[in-house]
Amino acid sequence: MSDSRPVFRFAPSPNGLLHLGHARSALINLEMARRAGGRLLLRIEDIDATRCRPEYEAAIYSDLSWLGIAWEEPVRRQSEHMADYRAALEKLAALDVVYASFESRADIRRAVEEEAGWPRDPDGAPLFPFPRTAMSEEERARRMQAGEPYALRLDMAKAAALAGPLSWREIGWPEPIGETVAADPPAWGDVVIARKEVPTSYHLAVVVDDALQGVTHVVRGADLKAATSVHRVIQALLGLPAPLYTHHALLTDADGRKLSKSLGSQSLQDLRANGATPEEVRRLAGL
Ligand code: GLU
Repeated sequence: MSDSRPVFRFAPSPNGLLHLGHARSALINLEMARRAGGRLLLRIEDIDATRCRPEYEAAIYSDLSWLGIAWEEPVRRQSEHMADYRAALEKLAALDVVYASFESRADIRRAVEEEAGWPRDPDGAPLFPFPRTAMSEEERARRMQAGEPYALRLDMAKAAALAGPLSWREIGWPEPIGETVAADPPAWGDVVIARKEVPTSYHLAVVVDDALQGVTHVVRGADLKAATSVHRVIQALLGLPAPLYTHHALLTDADGRKLSKSLGSQSLQDLRANGATPEEVRRLAGL
């Protein structure tokens, strides 16, 4: 008998310790899954081998258990599924919406500085400034074969044209809303979807995994709302269903800034070491 329960997931990256913002996302997932009679999955987003560490992954399991969050086993660890991402990448390449780019960060910075008011993506990074047509496919193939480092980018104009108009449903937290949000993929320009050494990026892996794991409800922070436009276009090109989305409000610190690791916000490990109870963390996390 197939299981028709809704599927939620919490998908942290083990590149640091979980803080209150993560606890908030995990607890909202848990609560929404409970109310919907759904399942909760945990996914470890560890494609960036240079930043992810086993001790952070161990801390994720420990902190979530301590918070009273249970998840289904086995946990999907993205680093173990590169073949799935490579297959998806090949499908996109077959649609001719992927190309290799060789420009360094410094090249990009220089090009952008020369153009006053160069457009930026919703995260504030400049759109990739070099048009695909500036280099022939033969030249790209030659440089790849020569072993140069490269990033594979989505030709967003072509991808968006192939996909046609896209939207997604926001279902809201804590108050339910039923909003249809129009996707705006071109706002992101030609995003990186893989690199020479890694056949995926966050955008591709998240889309592939949500589909492979049968995720019906993506619940994550509002800082990832705009990225859903990229995810919708990749879903459409790969013929994958769109989950329902909730992008919940982020916790802010006393100065109204987003709580993040870079601001040195307290980790759950610190809070635990200082004697906080799971109930207190729930309250601090706004639940
Ligand atoms: N791994 C991402 C992060 O830790 C979250 C991905 C997602 O929920 O879509 O920010």
